[in-house]
Amino acid sequence: MSKTVLVTGASSGIGKATALYLAQNGYNVYGAARRMEMLQALQQYGVKPLALDVTKDESILACVAAIGKIDILVNSAGLGSYGALEDVPMSEAKNQLEINLFGVARLIQLALPQMREQHYGKIVNISSIGGKVGLPMGTWYHAGKFALEGLSDSLRNEVRQFGIDVIVIEPGGTKSEMIAIGARDMMRVSGHTVYKGLAASLDKMYSDMEKNAVEPIVIARLIKKGIEAKHPKTRYIGGAMAKPML
Ligand code: NDP
Repeated sequence: MSKTVLVTGASSGIGKATALYLAQNGYNVYGAARRMEMLQALQQYGVKPLALDVTKDESILACVAAIGKIDILVNSAGLGSYGALEDVPMSEAKNQLEINLFGVARLIQLALPQMREQHYGKIVNISSIGGKVGLPMGTWYHAGKFALEGLSDSLRNEVRQFGIDVIVIEPGGTKSEMIAIGARDMMRVSGHTVYKGLAASLDKMYSDMEKNAVEPIVIARLIKKGIEAKHPKTRYIGGAMAKPML
């Protein structure tokens, strides 16, 4: 019987490409996000749409309950929001961690008992090269991704005994809504009086990254490779500027 996969962030970018690619390859795929109209468009390709807001516990519970049994969990929902630490409101920082860290952890909590019982499970966390390298003007994004790397490494050692693999994906520049928003957010700091020089060089770096960004299918293929490996690597790296930066 085909494995059941929940892909979060399936309305766009890496999550969307992964949901489509896995469905095309015979997996039973549920694609979840907030924008149902984007998910409904994937239905014709075999992806089952589910509403999910990873910042709301009742939404997470309802999403997991609607599926029943999750064999493979791909956590791709994410938010990239930038700015100098002294400028970013704490509410924005907290929201970013709610999505990039706590939402991921809550989904894992709910999926684990079933995975443990069946002695099979794959948890795929989409981190970033930003989970290894901290660039200025991205403190909260990097804080969340570094934390996600730590959570994944610790969890891997905790659940390996139950036949569950925890796989980290570290994309570099990948074409998506996020990369466009990231560049736009950098503009927010372009005119900064204190960080002006830094912001200008980062604007260049982000626009180079955007120019060289790979198609999300490149990352989707890495995810499938990780899921299907008998002994998966702990990390899979791909995308623009990924290797030089690590
Ligand atoms: P996109 O912005 O294209 O996709 C982000 C997805 O997350 C959307 O489907 C969005 O759906 C979903 N999402 C955001 N907030 C929530 C929420 N509160 N609840 C549920 N879903 C939510 O970005 P990418 O595909 O690029 O990002 C996917 C992952 O890849 C992220 O974790 C990101 O950090 C990581 N990454 C991306 C890189 C890149 O260059 N693109 C590089 C390195 C890492 P909706 O709005 O419909 O809810």
